[in-house]
Amino acid sequence: MSKQNKPEAPVEKNELIETTIEDLTHEGHGVGRVEGYALFIPYALPGERIQAKVIKTKKGYGFGKLITVLEESSERTEKPCPIYVKCGGCQLQHMTYEAQLHYKHKQVKDAFERIGGLNEAVVRDTIGMEDPWRYRNKAQVPIGVKEDGRLKAGFYQKRTHNIIDMDECIIQQKENDGAVQQVKDIASRFGMSAYDEESGRGFLRHVVTRYAPTTGQLMIVVITNGKKIPDEQAFIEAVRNEVKDTASIVQNVNTKRTNVIFGEKTKTLWGEDYIYDHIGGVKFAISARSFYQVNPVQTKTLYDKALEYADLRGHETVIDAYCGIGTISLFLAEKARQVYGVEVVPQAVSDAKRNAQLNHFDNVTFAAGKAEEVMPWWVKANDLRPDVVVVDPPRKGCDEQLLDTMLEVAPERIVYVSCNPATLARDLKHLVEGGYEVVEAQPVDMFPQTTHVEVATKLVKK
Ligand code: SAH
Repeated sequence: MSKQNKPEAPVEKNELIETTIEDLTHEGHGVGRVEGYALFIPYALPGERIQAKVIKTKKGYGFGKLITVLEESSERTEKPCPIYVKCGGCQLQHMTYEAQLHYKHKQVKDAFERIGGLNEAVVRDTIGMEDPWRYRNKAQVPIGVKEDGRLKAGFYQKRTHNIIDMDECIIQQKENDGAVQQVKDIASRFGMSAYDEESGRGFLRHVVTRYAPTTGQLMIVVITNGKKIPDEQAFIEAVRNEVKDTASIVQNVNTKRTNVIFGEKTKTLWGEDYIYDHIGGVKFAISARSFYQVNPVQTKTLYDKALEYADLRGHETVIDAYCGIGTISLFLAEKARQVYGVEVVPQAVSDAKRNAQLNHFDNVTFAAGKAEEVMPWWVKANDLRPDVVVVDPPRKGCDEQLLDTMLEVAPERIVYVSCNPATLARDLKHLVEGGYEVVEAQPVDMFPQTTHVEVATKLVKK
């Protein structure tokens, strides 16, 4: 839309308006209209007649705050978390789970049509969880100080850097929740100070915990502003004795004035550098800095789908681009002749190699580098001709050079795993224009209660 066509706001800031919600944005905000002018209203649901207060107006659209629901949608439900609105980590708790799954399906379908021009593509119903709570295997919690001087562990209040004290997070596995609280209490007892972003002073910045449900192992990472933990041995003993399931205690030092969580130096204080988890029949070693999917139940669902779409018979050469610690690669290796994985983070690549050894796979090769540079090189120098290419890029999608390399080597099948429907649709358009057909797409609800969705898509050469 050109600037001239954008309507001026027919409403003013602080004005109370009534509207009927038509749609949800990809951030989960309700969309209502006043004389055609769009207002985005968080926590309002499609079909609802609501009263809202205008918060902000721009040319073309504005924002409102939900004041009263006048006619309630049948998709509305009680939000179970007491800090839901303050925290902002979840966006859809006020919506029934069934409606969340529909909304995610629609989000993918809309992106396919609007961005990808893929009006005919089959998008399956979202696969949800039987129990869409307590699924996260990793907690990453900032530490602050309460008025009584004791430490608090919580979340940043939406759009601020104020830490909200939190007793529990109900999308977090219980083991993580408990561990964060215990480590915080132990640190308080040891007189550790909380890091203060404003002044750059104070010691404990974050507590990160990761739980592996299949082995019952817990990793605890303390991120500190400085090396020396006061009374270190006693602190380690206390954590070991008091926090059930602790298998590894790690310190990461971050002395930078930044809101990036991890610093460069990581040291194991006690136990192994890794904890172990299984997805399906494959065992993974996970270190403090490894990327590892946060929802183990749905990761298995998603990878099974990727494997089904890869349709391997045992004779195939497969490339897994953006392979992380080799999770999808090893899933595929059971069924393929040879798998090549490429990943830009060198530490993840050494984890991937270790994971291949751990599972006695000798048909997987990993390389560190950018997928868009390594894959063309594999093709040229090694004359690698993949039958199947699997990609699982970050939110910004695939590099165009990688897409073009794929078109050039023309594998029979491409499996595209994505955490962002918009960039997925953009990239699919490119692949379709280059001679591929989208067979189908399967949304998987990896992050219940939030607006995020993962999608596996199968493409075949026309
Ligand atoms: N497939 C893995 C990881 C997916 S996350 C899993 O399911 O666990 C995306 C990964 O892409 C991250 O590990 C990130 O480090 C990596 N990455 C980002 N840009 C990249 C690039 N240009 N080339 C290769 N890997 C990249």
